[in-house]
Amino acid sequence: MLTIKGNAKINLTLDVLYKRDDGFHQVEMIMQSIDLADVLCLEERKNGDISIATTIARLPCDQRNLAYRAAALIKETFQVKSGVHIFLEKNIPVAAGLAGGSADAASVLIGLNRLWNLGLSTNEMEILGAKLGSDVPFCIKGGTMLATGRGELLQPLADIKPCYIVLAKPPIGVSTAWVYRQYRGQDVKVHPDTPGVKSSLEQGDLTGVAKGLCNVLETVTIPVHPEIKKLKQSMMQYGAMASLMSGSGPTVFGLVEDQAKAEYIAEKLKSQNAAAIFVTKTVGKSGGV
Ligand code: ATP
Repeated sequence: MLTIKGNAKINLTLDVLYKRDDGFHQVEMIMQSIDLADVLCLEERKNGDISIATTIARLPCDQRNLAYRAAALIKETFQVKSGVHIFLEKNIPVAAGLAGGSADAASVLIGLNRLWNLGLSTNEMEILGAKLGSDVPFCIKGGTMLATGRGELLQPLADIKPCYIVLAKPPIGVSTAWVYRQYRGQDVKVHPDTPGVKSSLEQGDLTGVAKGLCNVLETVTIPVHPEIKKLKQSMMQYGAMASLMSGSGPTVFGLVEDQAKAEYIAEKLKSQNAAAIFVTKTVGKSGGV
């Protein structure tokens, strides 16, 4: 049996450059791993079956689950006779903009590569991962990365200066596909200064990173779910350095320098009863705070 963690991500920046001929949007985003994680236990099954049990009743346990699809893809690609039972402890909120499904798929690829002794390189796993979803390659690598293409092309950046992240997930799910369909680039006035945020990361300048947080998808999700804007305002009122919606939403995060302040903000937000609140940390190549 093998146990593996799949970290969630937040977007420090998210820009949509244009819609491509293949229907995907060309994006440019700075992604950051955080230590809110699902935990997966993988147990080999000699009879060849793939099965999933999970702590969240409403998550499907068949081909609709990305963890299942990851296992099926790697088994089929390498003609593996064995199967696997996956026990999925789901801690990352679902349909939240935190790439929970992608994190699970990445963990299954990494875990089965070990369990079945396939000897795949990270690069080979990324290529498989990109077939499952645009965020899966990032979840395989983790840390602080620039993601381009439809999100699958990665360039490592300097690790963010370790800090705390307060997450607020309002009780709504948002469909990523819907948000991209609604996106109207011509109406968007403010775009991220991606090179500026990259250079703040290189200088270890957390204030510069905080000033540069920007996500163009807020222009779609916030008008439909104004509670996101309220949560951002509350994060700032209680002392976050900056606050942003992650991915296509609805989760809002606040960037915070120290643990005491992060816990203070979390307590204040919890008393509003408007969202599920988590205190977490950034995770870097060098291992987080
Ligand atoms: P992203 O930030 O990559 O857009 P997300 O955090 O918004 O992702 P997910 O939590 O990955 O969204 O889930 C999106 C959809 O995928 C849900 O509707 C869910 O039913 C489905 N799904 C399939 N497998 C999983 C999984 N293992 N964990 C969570 N959701 C899954």
